[in-house]
Amino acid sequence: MPETLFHKVWNRHAVRTLASGQTQLLVGLHLVHEVTSPQAFDMLRQHGWHVAFPERTFATVDHITPTDTRRRPFLDLMAEEMTTALERNCREFGIRLCGPGSDDQGIVHVIGPELGLTQPGMTIACGDSHTSTHGALGAIAFGIGTSQVRDVLAAQSLALEPMKVRRIDVNGRLAPGVYAKDVILTIIRRLGVQGGVGYAYEYGGTTIDAMTIDERMTICNMSIEGGARVGYVNPDDTTFAYLRGRRFAPAGAAFDRAVAWWRSLASDPDAPYDDRVVVDAAAIEPTVTWGINPGQSVAIDEPLPDGSSGRPDREAIAEALTFMGLEAGAPITGTRVDVAFIGSCTNGRVSDLEEAARVVRGRKVAPHVKAIVVPGSREVGREAERRGLADVFRSAGFEWRGAGCSMCLGMNTDRLEGRQLCASSSNRNFKGRQGSPTGRTLLMSPAMVAAAAVAGEVVDVRRMLAGGRA
Ligand code: SF4
Repeated sequence: MPETLFHKVWNRHAVRTLASGQTQLLVGLHLVHEVTSPQAFDMLRQHGWHVAFPERTFATVDHITPTDTRRRPFLDLMAEEMTTALERNCREFGIRLCGPGSDDQGIVHVIGPELGLTQPGMTIACGDSHTSTHGALGAIAFGIGTSQVRDVLAAQSLALEPMKVRRIDVNGRLAPGVYAKDVILTIIRRLGVQGGVGYAYEYGGTTIDAMTIDERMTICNMSIEGGARVGYVNPDDTTFAYLRGRRFAPAGAAFDRAVAWWRSLASDPDAPYDDRVVVDAAAIEPTVTWGINPGQSVAIDEPLPDGSSGRPDREAIAEALTFMGLEAGAPITGTRVDVAFIGSCTNGRVSDLEEAARVVRGRKVAPHVKAIVVPGSREVGREAERRGLADVFRSAGFEWRGAGCSMCLGMNTDRLEGRQLCASSSNRNFKGRQGSPTGRTLLMSPAMVAAAAVAGEVVDVRRMLAGGRA
Protein backbone atom coordinates (compact mmCIF):
# COMPACT_ATOMS: atom_id res chain seq x y z
CA MET A 1 0.00 0.00 0.00
CA PRO A 2 1.43 3.42 -0.90
CA GLU A 3 1.92 5.57 2.20
CA THR A 4 2.87 9.09 3.21
CA LEU A 5 6.05 9.74 5.18
CA PHE A 6 3.80 10.66 8.09
CA HIS A 7 2.20 7.21 8.18
CA LYS A 8 5.47 5.36 7.62
CA VAL A 9 7.13 7.15 10.53
CA TRP A 10 4.07 7.06 12.79
CA ASN A 11 3.50 3.32 12.27
CA ARG A 12 7.16 2.46 12.87
CA HIS A 13 7.08 4.35 16.18
CA ALA A 14 3.65 3.14 17.38
CA VAL A 15 4.04 1.09 20.58
CA ARG A 16 0.32 0.24 20.86
CA THR A 17 -3.16 1.63 20.50
CA LEU A 18 -4.51 2.79 23.85
CA ALA A 19 -8.09 2.22 25.09
CA SER A 20 -8.69 5.94 24.43
CA GLY A 21 -8.01 5.38 20.73
CA GLN A 22 -4.77 7.31 21.03
CA THR A 23 -1.46 5.89 19.91
CA GLN A 24 1.41 5.41 22.32
CA LEU A 25 4.22 6.75 20.19
CA LEU A 26 7.93 6.21 20.83
CA VAL A 27 9.88 9.47 20.79
CA GLY A 28 13.27 9.26 19.08
CA LEU A 29 14.62 12.61 20.27
CA HIS A 30 13.48 14.75 23.18
CA LEU A 31 14.65 18.37 23.18
CA VAL A 32 14.44 20.20 26.50
CA HIS A 33 14.79 23.86 27.48
CA GLU A 34 14.77 25.81 30.71
CA VAL A 35 11.19 27.10 30.75
CA THR A 36 8.88 24.09 30.28
CA SER A 37 11.03 21.49 32.04
CA PRO A 38 11.52 22.39 35.77
CA GLN A 39 8.12 21.08 36.90
CA ALA A 40 8.50 17.96 34.76
CA PHE A 41 11.81 17.12 36.45
CA ASP A 42 10.23 17.82 39.87
CA MET A 43 7.43 15.36 39.06
CA LEU A 44 10.03 12.75 38.17
CA ARG A 45 11.71 13.28 41.53
CA GLN A 46 8.41 13.05 43.41
CA HIS A 47 7.78 9.63 41.86
CA GLY A 48 11.37 8.46 42.18
CA TRP A 49 11.59 7.98 38.40
CA HIS A 50 14.65 8.19 36.15
CA VAL A 51 14.94 9.58 32.65
CA ALA A 52 14.29 6.54 30.46
CA PHE A 53 16.71 7.42 27.65
CA PRO A 54 19.08 10.23 28.66
CA GLU A 55 21.09 9.56 25.49
CA ARG A 56 17.99 10.52 23.45
CA THR A 57 17.44 13.70 25.48
CA PHE A 58 19.23 16.97 24.77
CA ALA A 59 18.89 20.29 26.59
CA THR A 60 19.68 23.94 25.90
CA VAL A 61 18.92 27.36 27.37
CA ASP A 62 17.15 29.76 25.04
CA HIS A 63 13.77 31.15 26.12
CA ILE A 64 14.71 33.32 29.07
CA THR A 65 18.48 33.46 28.62
CA PRO A 66 19.85 37.03 28.42
CA THR A 67 21.24 38.03 25.03
CA ASP A 68 23.25 41.04 26.21
CA THR A 69 25.59 39.28 28.64
CA ARG A 70 26.67 35.78 29.65
CA ARG A 71 27.96 36.87 33.04
CA ARG A 72 26.64 34.77 35.92
CA PRO A 73 24.68 35.12 38.05
CA PHE A 74 22.27 36.74 35.59
CA LEU A 75 20.78 40.01 36.83
CA ASP A 76 17.35 38.63 35.94
CA LEU A 77 16.62 36.41 38.95
CA MET A 78 14.11 34.23 37.13
CA ALA A 79 16.58 33.58 34.30
CA GLU A 80 19.25 32.65 36.83
CA GLU A 81 16.85 30.38 38.74
CA MET A 82 15.62 28.56 35.63
CA THR A 83 19.11 28.14 34.23
CA THR A 84 20.46 26.83 37.53
CA ALA A 85 17.52 24.43 37.80
CA LEU A 86 18.18 23.05 34.31
CA GLU A 87 21.89 22.68 35.03
CA ARG A 88 21.08 20.76 38.23
CA ASN A 89 18.45 18.60 36.51
CA CYS A 90 20.74 17.72 33.61
CA ARG A 91 23.55 16.80 36.02
CA GLU A 92 21.26 14.69 38.18
CA PHE A 93 19.53 12.87 35.32
CA GLY A 94 22.57 12.50 33.04
CA ILE A 95 21.37 14.72 30.16
CA ARG A 96 23.64 16.62 27.76
CA LEU A 97 23.18 20.38 28.16
CA CYS A 98 24.22 23.27 25.95
CA GLY A 99 24.33 25.73 28.83
CA PRO A 100 25.10 29.46 28.74
CA GLY A 101 28.84 28.72 28.58
CA SER A 102 28.60 26.20 25.74
CA ASP A 103 29.68 26.98 22.19
CA ASP A 104 26.65 24.95 21.04
CA GLN A 105 24.05 27.01 22.94
CA GLY A 106 21.14 28.40 20.99
CA ILE A 107 17.43 28.13 20.27
CA VAL A 108 16.35 24.53 20.58
CA HIS A 109 14.94 24.44 17.01
CA VAL A 110 18.09 25.97 15.57
CA ILE A 111 20.69 23.79 17.29
CA GLY A 112 18.85 20.47 16.75
CA PRO A 113 19.30 20.56 12.95
CA GLU A 114 22.62 22.44 13.19
CA LEU A 115 24.20 19.67 15.29
CA GLY A 116 22.69 16.90 13.15
CA LEU A 117 20.52 15.68 16.04
CA THR A 118 17.43 16.13 13.85
CA GLN A 119 17.30 13.40 11.20
CA PRO A 120 14.73 12.12 8.70
CA GLY A 121 12.26 9.54 9.97
CA MET A 122 12.63 10.53 13.61
CA THR A 123 9.85 11.35 16.00
CA ILE A 124 10.86 14.47 17.92
CA ALA A 125 9.16 16.15 20.88
CA CYS A 126 9.92 19.39 22.70
CA GLY A 127 8.06 21.61 25.13
CA ASP A 128 7.68 24.38 22.57
CA SER A 129 4.95 24.79 19.95
CA HIS A 130 7.38 25.41 17.11
CA THR A 131 8.92 21.96 17.26
CA SER A 132 7.33 21.40 13.85
CA THR A 133 10.47 23.18 12.53
CA HIS A 134 12.35 19.86 12.56
CA GLY A 135 9.95 18.49 9.95
CA ALA A 136 12.06 20.36 7.38
CA LEU A 137 14.43 17.39 7.53
CA GLY A 138 11.69 14.78 7.16
CA ALA A 139 11.05 14.21 10.87
CA ILE A 140 7.65 14.06 12.55
CA ALA A 141 8.04 16.65 15.27
CA PHE A 142 5.50 18.11 17.66
CA GLY A 143 5.32 20.56 20.52
CA ILE A 144 4.23 19.22 23.91
CA GLY A 145 3.13 20.63 27.28
CA THR A 146 4.88 20.27 30.62
CA SER A 147 3.01 17.12 31.72
CA GLN A 148 3.93 15.50 28.40
CA VAL A 149 7.56 16.57 28.94
CA ARG A 150 7.35 14.50 32.14
CA ASP A 151 5.86 11.56 30.18
CA VAL A 152 8.64 11.63 27.59
CA LEU A 153 11.35 11.98 30.22
CA ALA A 154 9.95 9.01 32.14
CA ALA A 155 8.80 6.72 29.31
CA GLN A 156 10.24 8.14 26.07
CA SER A 157 6.74 7.94 24.65
CA LEU A 158 3.57 9.99 24.27
CA ALA A 159 -0.15 9.34 23.93
CA LEU A 160 -1.26 11.10 20.72
CA GLU A 161 -4.33 11.26 18.51
CA PRO A 162 -3.70 9.99 14.98
CA MET A 163 -3.62 12.85 12.45
CA LYS A 164 -4.88 13.35 8.93
CA VAL A 165 -2.39 14.49 6.28
CA ARG A 166 -2.87 17.53 4.05
CA ARG A 167 -0.50 17.85 1.10
CA ILE A 168 0.34 21.48 0.29
CA ASP A 169 2.02 21.90 -3.10
CA VAL A 170 3.72 25.23 -3.74
CA ASN A 171 4.71 25.47 -7.39
CA GLY A 172 6.65 28.01 -9.43
CA ARG A 173 9.40 30.56 -8.80
CA LEU A 174 9.35 33.11 -6.03
CA ALA A 175 10.06 36.63 -7.28
CA PRO A 176 13.15 38.44 -5.92
CA GLY A 177 12.33 39.95 -2.52
CA VAL A 178 9.81 37.20 -1.76
CA TYR A 179 10.91 34.60 0.79
CA ALA A 180 9.88 31.41 2.59
CA LYS A 181 8.30 33.59 5.30
CA ASP A 182 5.97 35.15 2.71
CA VAL A 183 5.02 31.66 1.50
CA ILE A 184 4.03 30.39 4.93
CA LEU A 185 2.21 33.61 5.87
CA THR A 186 0.25 33.29 2.61
CA ILE A 187 -0.61 29.64 3.32
CA ILE A 188 -1.80 30.46 6.85
CA ARG A 189 -3.87 33.37 5.59
CA ARG A 190 -5.52 31.16 2.98
CA LEU A 191 -6.19 28.09 5.16
CA GLY A 192 -6.79 29.97 8.41
CA VAL A 193 -5.18 29.72 11.82
CA GLN A 194 -7.44 26.79 12.70
CA GLY A 195 -7.39 25.23 9.23
CA GLY A 196 -4.73 22.68 10.11
CA VAL A 197 -6.23 21.40 13.38
CA GLY A 198 -6.09 17.59 13.29
CA TYR A 199 -3.73 17.62 10.30
CA ALA A 200 -0.06 17.11 9.64
CA TYR A 201 1.01 19.37 6.77
CA GLU A 202 3.20 17.81 4.09
CA TYR A 203 4.83 20.57 2.01
CA GLY A 204 6.00 19.83 -1.52
CA GLY A 205 5.93 21.12 -5.08
CA THR A 206 8.63 22.72 -7.18
CA THR A 207 9.06 25.78 -4.93
CA ILE A 208 9.62 23.70 -1.80
CA ASP A 209 11.84 21.26 -3.71
CA ALA A 210 14.08 24.16 -4.73
CA MET A 211 14.32 25.55 -1.18
CA THR A 212 17.29 25.18 1.15
CA ILE A 213 16.82 23.43 4.49
CA ASP A 214 16.86 26.85 6.21
CA GLU A 215 13.93 27.96 4.05
CA ARG A 216 12.06 24.70 4.64
CA MET A 217 12.57 25.22 8.37
CA THR A 218 10.87 28.63 8.14
CA ILE A 219 7.90 26.97 6.42
CA CYS A 220 7.61 24.00 8.80
CA ASN A 221 8.20 26.21 11.85
CA MET A 222 4.95 28.12 11.34
CA SER A 223 2.75 25.06 10.64
CA ILE A 224 1.47 25.34 14.19
CA GLU A 225 0.35 28.92 13.49
CA GLY A 226 -1.99 27.40 10.91
CA GLY A 227 -3.27 24.90 13.49
CA ALA A 228 -1.17 21.93 12.26
CA ARG A 229 0.89 20.44 15.05
CA VAL A 230 3.20 18.76 12.53
CA GLY A 231 4.66 20.06 9.27
CA TYR A 232 7.26 18.28 7.14
CA VAL A 233 9.05 18.07 3.83
CA ASN A 234 10.07 14.72 2.34
CA PRO A 235 13.81 14.08 2.66
CA ASP A 236 15.77 14.51 -0.56
CA ASP A 237 19.31 15.22 -1.77
CA THR A 238 19.14 18.72 -0.24
CA THR A 239 18.41 17.11 3.14
CA PHE A 240 21.24 14.59 2.86
CA ALA A 241 23.75 17.22 1.76
CA TYR A 242 22.74 19.38 4.74
CA LEU A 243 23.25 16.52 7.20
CA ARG A 244 26.54 15.17 5.87
CA GLY A 245 29.37 15.93 8.30
CA ARG A 246 27.18 17.28 11.10
CA ARG A 247 28.35 16.22 14.53
CA PHE A 248 25.52 13.89 15.54
CA ALA A 249 24.67 12.64 12.03
CA PRO A 250 25.91 9.19 11.03
CA ALA A 251 29.37 9.20 9.43
CA GLY A 252 31.18 7.15 6.76
CA ALA A 253 29.44 3.99 5.59
CA ALA A 254 26.75 4.47 8.24
CA PHE A 255 25.80 7.75 6.56
CA ASP A 256 25.32 6.02 3.19
CA ARG A 257 23.18 3.33 4.83
CA ALA A 258 21.18 6.03 6.58
CA VAL A 259 20.60 7.86 3.28
CA ALA A 260 19.14 4.69 1.71
CA TRP A 261 16.83 4.34 4.72
CA TRP A 262 15.87 8.03 4.80
CA ARG A 263 15.12 7.99 1.08
CA SER A 264 12.74 5.05 1.53
CA LEU A 265 10.71 7.04 4.07
CA ALA A 266 9.61 9.75 1.62
CA SER A 267 5.93 9.66 0.72
CA ASP A 268 5.20 7.27 -2.15
CA PRO A 269 4.23 9.05 -5.39
CA ASP A 270 0.68 7.68 -5.24
CA ALA A 271 0.24 8.02 -1.47
CA PRO A 272 -3.29 8.99 -0.46
CA TYR A 273 -3.88 12.32 1.30
CA ASP A 274 -6.88 13.50 3.31
CA ASP A 275 -6.73 16.86 1.57
CA ARG A 276 -4.68 18.63 -1.10
CA VAL A 277 -4.01 22.33 -1.62
CA VAL A 278 -2.06 24.01 -4.43
CA VAL A 279 -0.39 27.40 -4.07
CA ASP A 280 1.02 29.50 -6.94
CA ALA A 281 4.41 30.84 -5.85
CA ALA A 282 4.51 33.50 -8.57
CA ALA A 283 1.42 35.15 -7.05
CA ILE A 284 3.02 35.58 -3.62
CA GLU A 285 4.23 39.04 -2.65
CA PRO A 286 6.08 40.34 0.41
CA THR A 287 3.53 39.74 3.16
CA VAL A 288 2.98 41.51 6.47
CA THR A 289 0.61 40.76 9.32
CA TRP A 290 -1.62 43.62 10.39
CA GLY A 291 -3.57 41.91 13.19
CA ILE A 292 -3.29 39.77 16.30
CA ASN A 293 -2.87 36.34 14.78
CA PRO A 294 -0.54 35.17 11.99
CA GLY A 295 -3.46 34.60 9.60
CA GLN A 296 -4.29 38.31 9.58
CA SER A 297 -1.89 39.44 6.87
CA VAL A 298 -1.84 41.35 3.61
CA ALA A 299 0.43 41.52 0.60
CA ILE A 300 2.51 44.69 0.85
CA ASP A 301 0.49 46.57 -1.80
CA GLU A 302 -2.92 45.47 -0.53
CA PRO A 303 -5.18 47.69 1.61
CA LEU A 304 -6.06 46.58 5.15
CA PRO A 305 -9.42 44.78 5.38
CA ASP A 306 -12.61 46.56 6.37
CA GLY A 307 -14.28 45.30 9.55
CA SER A 308 -17.51 47.13 8.77
CA SER A 309 -18.16 45.09 5.61
CA GLY A 310 -20.39 41.99 5.63
CA ARG A 311 -17.48 39.55 6.11
CA PRO A 312 -18.06 36.77 8.65
CA ASP A 313 -14.79 37.68 10.39
CA ARG A 314 -15.70 41.39 10.67
CA GLU A 315 -15.67 41.36 14.49
CA ALA A 316 -12.22 39.78 14.57
CA ILE A 317 -11.01 42.35 12.01
CA ALA A 318 -12.43 45.25 14.03
CA GLU A 319 -10.89 43.96 17.27
CA ALA A 320 -7.50 43.50 15.63
CA LEU A 321 -7.48 46.89 13.89
CA THR A 322 -8.47 48.62 17.12
CA PHE A 323 -5.73 46.89 19.09
CA MET A 324 -3.15 47.60 16.41
CA GLY A 325 -4.26 51.23 15.96
CA LEU A 326 -4.57 50.70 12.20
CA GLU A 327 -7.30 51.92 9.88
CA ALA A 328 -9.54 49.78 7.67
CA GLY A 329 -8.71 50.28 4.00
CA ALA A 330 -5.39 52.02 4.72
CA PRO A 331 -2.13 50.75 3.21
CA ILE A 332 0.23 48.81 5.48
CA THR A 333 3.15 50.63 3.88
CA GLY A 334 3.98 53.80 5.77
CA THR A 335 3.09 52.28 9.16
CA ARG A 336 5.67 53.74 11.55
CA VAL A 337 7.74 51.17 13.46
CA ASP A 338 9.48 51.70 16.80
CA VAL A 339 11.43 48.45 17.05
CA ALA A 340 12.91 46.04 14.49
CA PHE A 341 13.72 42.48 15.60
CA ILE A 342 15.64 40.00 13.45
CA GLY A 343 15.91 36.57 15.05
CA SER A 344 13.90 33.58 16.40
CA CYS A 345 13.65 29.93 15.38
CA THR A 346 11.65 31.04 12.34
CA ASN A 347 14.22 33.43 10.89
CA GLY A 348 17.37 33.53 13.01
CA ARG A 349 19.70 31.50 10.79
CA VAL A 350 22.73 32.63 8.78
CA SER A 351 20.84 32.76 5.48
CA ASP A 352 18.21 35.00 7.12
CA LEU A 353 20.89 37.35 8.42
CA GLU A 354 22.55 37.37 5.01
CA GLU A 355 19.34 38.48 3.27
CA ALA A 356 18.71 41.15 5.89
CA ALA A 357 22.32 42.38 5.66
CA ARG A 358 21.95 42.72 1.89
CA VAL A 359 19.25 45.32 2.56
CA VAL A 360 21.09 47.06 5.38
CA ARG A 361 24.57 47.28 3.81
CA GLY A 362 25.60 50.94 3.41
CA ARG A 363 22.42 52.23 5.07
CA LYS A 364 21.53 53.43 8.58
CA VAL A 365 18.74 52.50 10.93
CA ALA A 366 16.18 55.33 11.21
CA PRO A 367 16.93 57.47 14.31
CA HIS A 368 13.65 56.63 16.07
CA VAL A 369 13.99 52.84 15.64
CA LYS A 370 15.58 50.44 18.13
CA ALA A 371 16.91 47.60 15.98
CA ILE A 372 18.36 44.32 17.23
CA VAL A 373 19.73 41.17 15.62
CA VAL A 374 19.71 38.03 17.74
CA PRO A 375 21.36 35.00 16.10
CA GLY A 376 19.48 31.72 16.57
CA SER A 377 22.56 30.01 17.95
CA ARG A 378 26.12 30.78 18.93
CA GLU A 379 27.25 28.98 15.79
CA VAL A 380 25.00 31.23 13.70
CA GLY A 381 26.56 34.21 15.50
CA ARG A 382 30.11 32.98 14.86
CA GLU A 383 29.40 32.27 11.19
CA ALA A 384 27.77 35.68 10.77
CA GLU A 385 30.84 37.29 12.34
CA ARG A 386 33.13 35.31 9.98
CA ARG A 387 31.13 36.48 6.96
CA GLY A 388 31.23 40.11 8.10
CA LEU A 389 27.46 40.29 8.57
CA ALA A 390 27.69 41.34 12.20
CA ASP A 391 29.80 44.35 11.16
CA VAL A 392 27.23 45.30 8.52
CA PHE A 393 24.51 45.33 11.15
CA ARG A 394 26.61 47.14 13.75
CA SER A 395 27.67 49.88 11.38
CA ALA A 396 24.06 50.39 10.34
CA GLY A 397 23.09 50.94 13.98
CA PHE A 398 21.68 47.53 14.93
CA GLU A 399 22.50 46.00 18.31
CA TRP A 400 24.29 42.67 17.78
CA ARG A 401 23.35 40.20 20.51
CA GLY A 402 24.08 36.73 21.85
CA ALA A 403 21.92 33.73 20.90
CA GLY A 404 18.44 33.13 22.30
CA CYS A 405 14.69 33.54 21.80
CA SER A 406 14.85 37.17 22.92
CA MET A 407 12.05 39.34 21.62
CA CYS A 408 10.17 36.46 20.02
CA LEU A 409 8.39 36.09 23.35
CA GLY A 410 9.88 38.78 25.58
CA MET A 411 10.64 36.54 28.55
CA ASN A 412 14.04 38.10 29.12
CA THR A 413 14.72 41.83 29.20
CA ASP A 414 14.38 42.18 25.39
CA ARG A 415 10.81 43.47 25.41
CA LEU A 416 8.55 46.00 23.82
CA GLU A 417 7.55 48.91 26.02
CA GLY A 418 4.01 50.25 26.15
CA ARG A 419 2.37 50.53 22.70
CA GLN A 420 5.59 50.17 20.73
CA LEU A 421 5.15 48.63 17.29
CA CYS A 422 7.70 46.03 16.23
CA ALA A 423 8.59 44.80 12.76
CA SER A 424 9.54 41.24 13.64
CA SER A 425 10.90 38.17 11.87
CA SER A 426 9.39 35.89 14.55
CA ASN A 427 6.24 33.77 14.35
CA ARG A 428 3.55 35.11 16.69
CA ASN A 429 1.80 38.45 16.79
CA PHE A 430 -0.61 37.69 19.64
CA LYS A 431 -1.49 40.52 22.03
CA GLY A 432 1.37 40.89 24.52
CA ARG A 433 3.60 38.32 22.80
CA GLN A 434 6.67 40.53 22.83
CA GLY A 435 6.58 41.34 26.52
CA SER A 436 4.30 44.39 26.73
CA PRO A 437 0.54 43.75 27.09
CA THR A 438 -0.15 46.62 24.71
CA GLY A 439 2.87 46.11 22.42
CA ARG A 440 2.14 45.47 18.73
CA THR A 441 3.83 43.07 16.34
CA LEU A 442 3.98 43.00 12.55
CA LEU A 443 5.36 39.69 11.28
CA MET A 444 7.39 39.74 8.05
CA SER A 445 10.54 38.32 6.46
CA PRO A 446 13.96 39.32 7.86
CA ALA A 447 14.66 41.35 4.71
CA MET A 448 11.39 43.24 5.21
CA VAL A 449 12.31 43.87 8.87
CA ALA A 450 15.67 45.24 7.75
CA ALA A 451 13.94 47.51 5.24
CA ALA A 452 11.51 48.74 7.92
CA ALA A 453 14.40 49.43 10.32
CA VAL A 454 16.13 51.61 7.74
CA ALA A 455 13.01 53.42 6.50
CA GLY A 456 11.48 53.75 9.97
CA GLU A 457 8.20 52.46 8.57
CA VAL A 458 6.83 49.46 6.69
CA VAL A 459 8.11 49.50 3.11
CA ASP A 460 8.33 47.15 0.15
CA VAL A 461 11.76 45.54 0.35
CA ARG A 462 11.73 44.92 -3.41
CA ARG A 463 12.07 48.62 -4.06
CA MET A 464 14.93 48.92 -1.61
CA LEU A 465 16.71 45.94 -3.16
CA ALA A 466 16.27 47.64 -6.52
CA GLY A 467 18.17 50.65 -5.16
CA GLY A 468 15.35 53.02 -4.27
CA ARG A 469 14.30 54.22 -0.82
CA ALA A 470 11.11 52.18 -0.80
S1 SF4 B 1 12.26 31.63 19.19
FE1 SF4 B 1 10.16 31.87 19.89
S2 SF4 B 1 8.97 30.22 18.97
FE2 SF4 B 1 11.17 29.75 18.76
S3 SF4 B 1 11.65 28.41 20.49
FE3 SF4 B 1 12.08 30.52 21.11
S4 SF4 B 1 10.17 31.29 22.02
FE4 SF4 B 1 9.68 29.41 20.93
